[in-house]
Amino acid sequence: MPKIRVVVDEDLCIGAASCVTIAPETFQMNEENKAWVLDHGTEPDGHTYERWMEVTDDEKENIILAAQSCPTLAVFIFDEGGTQIFPEM
Ligand code: SF4
Repeated sequence: MPKIRVVVDEDLCIGAASCVTIAPETFQMNEENKAWVLDHGTEPDGHTYERWMEVTDDEKENIILAAQSCPTLAVFIFDEGGTQIFPEM
């Protein structure tokens, strides 16, 4: 399964929550109205704004859709080699 790193830039996040609507297994609003990054709905090592996770191709596509929905492009996605997949450079 592909391994990706998902990062929310807390300074860019304005709490629009569209990422949570599209990918609730990966994003969850916190008390500061910013989006935490989850691993398949769980938080194995606590709350964090960035996380490595193994995903299916469908899950990866959905997480990219969630990132695309973010009005401030606050979600960054990297592949296993560290290359930024989204937003495209
Ligand atoms: S869609 Fe963007 S701005 Fe909205 S909660 Fe998610 S990361 Fe934050």
